[in-house]
Amino acid sequence: MSRSEIAAKLREHGVLPTPQRLEVAEVLLDRPQHLSAEQLLEKLRANGSRVSKATVYNTLNLFGERGLVRELTIDPSRKFYDSTTHAHHHFFHVETGRLSDIPHEQIEIMGLPELPAGTEQESVEVLIRIRDKQ
Ligand SMILES: [Zn+2]
Repeated sequence: MSRSEIAAKLREHGVLPTPQRLEVAEVLLDRPQHLSAEQLLEKLRANGSRVSKATVYNTLNLFGERGLVRELTIDPSRKFYDSTTHAHHHFFHVETGRLSDIPHEQIEIMGLPELPAGTEQESVEVLIRIRDKQ
């Protein structure tokens, strides 16, 4: 995606394309991937970017709110931002900390509990935790 295409994508999602937001979007939306804020910051630094940590965090929150990325919370200390926004599931390798995609159609949910009164289902996401065989 070119910088102007990325800017157009941000505007489509109601995000003003400031230079810092464009830098973050260029790295994160480059390809299907799952990055933590720290990993994203490292990549930005490697590209010579001087975007602050606070700006990266704020930008990721904004992108998440506006549906530009999906937030995946593995546990309270680990949050990832997924550039693939359509419904899909994940493998999480507990030793490497890596996430990989499982296509939506590869998981069939056979039964779900009754939803709490007054609620409707928004989505079901499956996270399969894996480790290398001993
Ligand atoms: Zn994913």
